[in-house]
Amino acid sequence: MYAARNKDEEGLFAITGEGRAVALFRMVLAFMLMVMLAFVVVEGWRIWRDYRHAFANAENMVTNLARATAQHAEDAIRQVDAITAALSERLEGDGFDHIDRPRLHALLVQQKNIMPQLHGLFVYDAEGNWVVTDQAAIPPKANNADRDYFIYHRTHSDRGVHIGSVVRSRSTDDLIIPISRRLEHADGSFAGVLLGTIKVDWFVHYYGNFKIDERGALVLAMRDGTILVRRPFVEKVVGRSLANSEIFRNHLPYAAEGLVEAVAVVDGTPRLYAYRALSSYPLVVEAGLSRESIVAPWRHDAIKSMAVLLLLLLGLAAFGGVVLRQLRERIFIERALHQAHQTLKSLALTDSLTGLGNRRRLDAVFEPELRRARRQGYPLTLVMLDLDYFKAYNDRYGHPAGDQCLRRFGEVLQQALKRPADLAVRYGGEEFTLLLPDTDARGAELLVQEVQQLLRRQILEHAGSPLGRVSCSAGIATGDPAREEVTAERLMAAADGALYQAKRQGRDRYCVAENSRASADS
Ligand code: GH3
Ligand code: MG
Ligand code: MG
Repeated sequence: MYAARNKDEEGLFAITGEGRAVALFRMVLAFMLMVMLAFVVVEGWRIWRDYRHAFANAENMVTNLARATAQHAEDAIRQVDAITAALSERLEGDGFDHIDRPRLHALLVQQKNIMPQLHGLFVYDAEGNWVVTDQAAIPPKANNADRDYFIYHRTHSDRGVHIGSVVRSRSTDDLIIPISRRLEHADGSFAGVLLGTIKVDWFVHYYGNFKIDERGALVLAMRDGTILVRRPFVEKVVGRSLANSEIFRNHLPYAAEGLVEAVAVVDGTPRLYAYRALSSYPLVVEAGLSRESIVAPWRHDAIKSMAVLLLLLLGLAAFGGVVLRQLRERIFIERALHQAHQTLKSLALTDSLTGLGNRRRLDAVFEPELRRARRQGYPLTLVMLDLDYFKAYNDRYGHPAGDQCLRRFGEVLQQALKRPADLAVRYGGEEFTLLLPDTDARGAELLVQEVQQLLRRQILEHAGSPLGRVSCSAGIATGDPAREEVTAERLMAAADGALYQAKRQGRDRYCVAENSRASADS
């Protein structure tokens, strides 16, 4: 009852004390979370950007590597292409019967010395016998008719250079790449083969000079995927086919150069590759950096900055925790103060004997209730009750018994009141008051009748009363503030007058003040 009445007041109190502390607590918490989130977002963004940068740099690097490697291979082969073209022109022009072997040998030696990539220069006749080479002596019965390139030229009439897969040299035991050309007689029949060989070591050495880590890869392969040279160089990899690799299967057929992230067929390492098909020869180069070598420096950096971020967040959280704990303590203190305040206030407004409200409570509530009745247009009834012959009761049964009787009467009143908004107070001595919002005189009469009935049922003996039991008299006054001028004083006076009338008429009854019925009925 009391709590409902003072809701507004409580709200006000909450805003001034505890409420402010709670608001501050929430603000600090929200601010802290926002700061922490901002740190995480900024740092996360930076780490992501670094990751992208690492890949962008790696993309540039492998693209440049692929270009340089392709250019290098192209140049090396073009020179052999050029010298074999000039030699074949000369041989075919002079005719094979008129070869000046010593002069030709001297020319081959000279050309070989000019081109460091060159392993050897060879001229074979139509049967595969060695005719002239750059070497000082020709081994007896040396014959190369079984070599792939020889068979190829015997069976194909095209005049361009042919690049073969890696073989081991019969003269020096080196791994070599054969670059060959068909020789023809004037009638177009097969006359032999002109061969220039490039040392695989030449490429291995060149590829070894690039500054990439040991998991990086450089590959020179034929267009069909057969590996010619690879860094890191492992001999058994030479001749293996990359035809089923991601690049040869899914990229090379559609674009002559590109970037691909793929797992290597040869060693299973995930890499970022740039590949490039040579423009003049059916060869392809691949340059790859291992994903690990791209990511590792970034990861190292990211872990460090995340550790710093974590420390920062922990520090912030610890600091915030201290502040928030203090704020929470303050909230508890405010709440305790608030409760103490409420308790004191309710004590000040409570009658200690009966537990009902006291006169101050009535005074505090009367005006607001009047205003509310006026605003909402309902009647307000005030009832004054007074125990009959109570002085005599005290005199006969003693003061403590009188107190007990008052307590019982308080219980009766509380029992009779049904609505939460109804208020019963001990106005003083053995006088009680009921304030009944939204109740007309008729409703109050029924309530008073119930109070008297309940009191009768208590069977409180009172030998000093003509009735032989404790009874009460009541005065009822109703006002309708929406229609007439109603004040607390006037309503009290009217109820008091009605009570006096009831006493005069013999007690144990109630009277309704004049106008009360009229105002309620009208
Ligand atoms: P009436 O029927 O006209 O009301 O007569 P009455 O004796 O009840 O009225 P009166 O005003 O003469 O007496 C009131 C008595 O109530 C006086 C006092 O002894 C008693 N009284 C007032 N306050 C208390 C109290 O707190 N405790 C007790 N036990 N008695 C009280
Ligand atoms: Mg009395
Ligand atoms: Mg009295």
